[in-house]
Amino acid sequence: MKCEHCTRKECSKKTKTDDRENASVEVPSPAQESGKEKGEFHKLADAKIFLSDCLACDSCVSAEEGVQVAQQNAKDFFRVLNLNKKCDASERKVLAVSVCPQSLPYFAAKFSLSVTDASRRLCGFLKSLGVHYVFDTAVAADLSVLESQKEFVRRFHRHSEQEPALPMLASACPGWVRYAERVLGHPVTPHLCTARSPQQIMGSLVKDYFARRQALSPDKIFHVIVAPCYDRKLEALQEDVPWASPGLRGADCVLTSGEIAQMMEQSDLSVRDAALDTLFGDAREEGRRHEGTNSDGYLAPIFRHAAKELFNEDVGEVTYRALRNRDFQEVTLEKGGEVLLRFAAAYGFRNIQNVVLKLKKGKFPYHFVEVLACAGGCLNGRGQAQTEDGRADKALLREMRGIYATVPVRAPESSARVQDLYREWLDGADSPRARETLHTAHQGPERPADGRDIKW
Ligand code: SF4
Repeated sequence: MKCEHCTRKECSKKTKTDDRENASVEVPSPAQESGKEKGEFHKLADAKIFLSDCLACDSCVSAEEGVQVAQQNAKDFFRVLNLNKKCDASERKVLAVSVCPQSLPYFAAKFSLSVTDASRRLCGFLKSLGVHYVFDTAVAADLSVLESQKEFVRRFHRHSEQEPALPMLASACPGWVRYAERVLGHPVTPHLCTARSPQQIMGSLVKDYFARRQALSPDKIFHVIVAPCYDRKLEALQEDVPWASPGLRGADCVLTSGEIAQMMEQSDLSVRDAALDTLFGDAREEGRRHEGTNSDGYLAPIFRHAAKELFNEDVGEVTYRALRNRDFQEVTLEKGGEVLLRFAAAYGFRNIQNVVLKLKKGKFPYHFVEVLACAGGCLNGRGQAQTEDGRADKALLREMRGIYATVPVRAPESSARVQDLYREWLDGADSPRARETLHTAHQGPERPADGRDIKW
């Protein structure tokens, strides 16, 4: 029996399912199934497949990648911390940790704190271990969203029936991108937005911008990302830093919020709270998030920008209309009875299937779709919103949603630092350096390989 959420006929997973959209399912070890050393990815979740993992399952993850993903764990983090304590000053690594905004509501809920106090507690804990800098990834998310806005407008102008540049599909979720690249291939990959994800941009900011400011060689920095899901560990493997020596990775290790919380619970350190650092060496802007419900918030900022740039329309409140379910929502801009823009948010595998089916049939009504692998968005990432037995923790998710809603919303354009970064770091907003640093080319076979061809 295959996973009830996946309709791929080739999917050979033996599963037990529960009744949830984001079911966790018991599987035989992939090595048992295939007779090969592959599928280490699943072992990270105690041999369970979650839906987001399903989008990057062992048919998409090579044996070598599986090993490298599994190596990103607390042990690796402590290895570097301990080496720093023992080795000569000249050999020490500078430890920098960057925290995703969707992780902070988890720490706030876990320790019954506000988001601000939770970030101070987390920062104090990491520094007490020997971490030198703790950042958040907000400025990297600003750059990612701004580049996505510009790309959408470019695609809209370029789009024609002969050479369709639309729809544009969001590319910040590594589970979805990996699935699109490795399984779907053409015709889906040309529609993926080329803007790099916040994690990838943060890697370049730390290993390039920050390293230069601190007069450090990038390989002296050990950069850890704290993220809501395991898929970001996989993403870290593909993050070479543009303009740096080949093979230099932007993130050396990704730890989930749950892995960090476990360290905090097991620690008997008396911790003094501390403020987050900034890449710029000054006071941090107040905690903020992009408009949107549970994700990095691409849909609303791109929608507002496109409405203004393309139709000179100022959008007030962005109104979401639930379609098939609350994880498939639509936003439209209408004038004189005509729909000028039609955007959608499609979260979770079930809704992704529908998007892909429509795209393949050539009957696609949307200009942009914010696609996320996890039903419920990033707050529901499997690295934080699950019970000990691997089920979705609905009560925790509800609490995190409430907490996330209290974080002030700021438009990416309003960040004082972003324009400085374009000017000082990237030689201008439209320079070749900005394009290479902030954009990527998505891989993908022209047609899915035979063995991976999908029969929906
Ligand atoms: S939706 Fe968010 S949490 Fe889930 S796999 Fe994608 S990036 Fe990770």
